[in-house]
Parts: sequence; C-alpha cells; structure tokens
Amino acid sequence: KEIVAKESNVAKIKVVVRKRPLNKKEVARKEDDIVKVHDSSYLTVHEPKLKVDLTAYVEKHEFCFDAVLDENVNNDEVYRATVQPIIPIIFQRTKATCFAYGQTGSGKTFTMQPLPLRAAEDIVRLLRQPIYQGQKFRLWLSYFEIYGGKLFDLLGDRRKLCMREDGRQQVCIVGLQEFEVSDVQIVKEFIEKGNAARSTGSTGANEESSRSHAILQLSIKKHKEVNETKRHNDGNEPKGGKVIGKISFIDLAGSERGADTTDNDRQTRIEGAEINKSLLALKECIRALDNDQIHIPFRGSKLTEVLRDSFVGNSRTVMISCISPNAGSCEHTLNTLRYADRVK
Ligand code: ADP
Ligand code: MG
Repeated sequence: KEIVAKESNVAKIKVVVRKRPLNKKEVARKEDDIVKVHDSSYLTVHEPKLKVDLTAYVEKHEFCFDAVLDENVNNDEVYRATVQPIIPIIFQRTKATCFAYGQTGSGKTFTMQPLPLRAAEDIVRLLRQPIYQGQKFRLWLSYFEIYGGKLFDLLGDRRKLCMREDGRQQVCIVGLQEFEVSDVQIVKEFIEKGNAARSTGSTGANEESSRSHAILQLSIKKHKEVNETKRHNDGNEPKGGKVIGKISFIDLAGSERGADTTDNDRQTRIEGAEINKSLLALKECIRALDNDQIHIPFRGSKLTEVLRDSFVGNSRTVMISCISPNAGSCEHTLNTLRYADRVK
C-alpha cells in the first residue's frame, strides 16, 4: 500500500510545547516543579510571588497549544507528534521547517538532534515505495550555522558563506556543501561531523552554541545525469537537480540570549541584538504565514532571509517550544510560552 498524505490534513502551523524533567542539580537544590501538564494540549505554570508585605502566593498562568508533551514523553513520541506527519507531503513540492525554541538548557538540542535522522529514515523508506521509484528522486543534506548574523558551513570546514537570491525567489547559499545521502548511516555521520563543528570558542561548547542557530536541511531532488545537467542547466539550477521538497531543522539560539543587549562585552551585545532581531523576525514571519499575508517580512534578519523559500508558497511549520520546569526558570518559561502563544 502506498503512503500518500492528504495535504489538507496537516496544519500549516503547529505549535508544540515540550517540558523537560527536573535535572539532578535542580532536584538537589530542592527546586519546585512549577509546570503542570494537564492533558495533551493544556498546561499551567505556577509562578511563586511575594506580596508587598512579603507573604508568598502563587500566580497561575494557563496555556493551550496544538500539543503539550510532558517530561515522560520520549524522543520517538516527539517525532511522531511533530515531524512525521509532514514527511509525505515534502514529496509534493512543500517546504517544511521545524524549529526548537527556548532558553539555554531547556532541551532544544536534546529534542532536535534525533529528528533529522528519523526523518531521513522515513524519507529513504518512502523513496523505495513503488510510486517514487521511477521518479529519480534523491535525498540531499546540508548543515550550517548562523552566528552573529554570518553563515558558516558545518560540513565544509566552517567556511563563511554568503547568500544570493535568484529571480524565482529561491535562496541560494553560495558555496554551501550539499551531500547526496542514500542511507541513514551516512546521514548520522554527517550530523555528527556537523555537530562537532558548531561554534565552541573559548567559553565551552554549550555557552557558544547557545548563541548560534544551527540549520540542517534535507532536500528531495529530482536527479539529473551530469551530461543532462550540462545541456540544460542555466546556472540557477541547484546541484543534483531540481528541488522537489525540503525540510529544515533549526536548533535556535537560546531565547534568553536575545536579552544580552546591555552586556559589558561589545561582541556579546552585538550577538544579543542579532539574536533578538532574528527571533522577533521569525515570529512575525510565522504569523504572516498563518494569516496568508502576501507580504512576508523575511528581510528582518539573516535567519528569516535564509528561510525565505520556506515562507512562500506551500509550506508547513512546526515550532517546538522547550521549557524548563524549575521555579528558577519561571520567567524564561513564561517568556517562551508567550512567544509560542503569539505564533500559534
Ligand atoms: P539546550 O539545547 O536548550 O540548551 P539541551 O538540549 O542541551 O538544552 O538540554 C540541557 C540538558 O538537559 C542536557 O543535559 C539534556 O540531555 C537534558 N535534557 C533536555 N531535555 C531532556 C528530556 N526531555 N529528558 C531528559 N533529559 C533532557
Ligand atoms: Mg543546545
């Protein structure tokens, strides 16, 4: 039996919240878990507060989303709730994007890492289905990072990249390495290689990577033989053939980094301003997409410019908002949920 998704069944924008468990440190500090997941779409945050006379009370905040995943949900279930339903429709000229949003330490990387691998598994399986076998479809992978408003190739020795737009509103990242991947093991190796190349700097891996957006793209292309490419290629056609569909996995910079705009260090301030700008622009683009606006404000940041072709035409967006459950993260958690609420 052939797996073909009915496009209309998959929402254009889906907002999912994932709560991570309290970690050992938080448990050792006897921090309260202030996030309660009531059902698959409803959660409350219990904010500890003090009155002027210093009596403690709790303010309750309620939120509803397309899906709310509690601390017992594993990565396979996350995949099924977010990316899996989209996979068949990227064979039908759809651009899909999956974001992980949240403060540093809330579980973005933990959530995002396994998704492209699972997606590649499903794509490879679909490519072997009878309906696609005669189509010369191939799977391609690229992986890059946006750091301080600049693009770096994570699979090409961190070479700095620049962006160009062709006349057909297609984004071209000049020099970005793309690899044809025919099996999942190779995909795994590329992901590991790319992860190792993420910004590390002097302050240690997590600190620096929290200031960058990592973007992994899987594209399905209609294969062209080399001599065929030579004859017909007008210079604008991407390597390997025409892009049929694409899915981008984006591990966003820590949302709290956008507030680093008053830091003493100049570089940190510049990066903070860039992150702030990109997260705001992203929210505006997704909202515009949801309202079927003609004008999508993608020029607001490098991140949204790079994703331009995913914001026009037929597209699907999944936002996974990651939240920490501990009382000490309350303010960031509320900020993340409010951001997600605006996107929804
Ligand atoms: P971020 O990328 O948002 O900074 P990480 O993904 O690095 O956060 O997560 C921070 C820590 O919490 C890591 O050690 C990670 O393994 C752990 N973690 C995150 N989410 C979960 C989860 N759902 N279950 C178990 N551990 C988690
Ligand atoms: Mg991370």
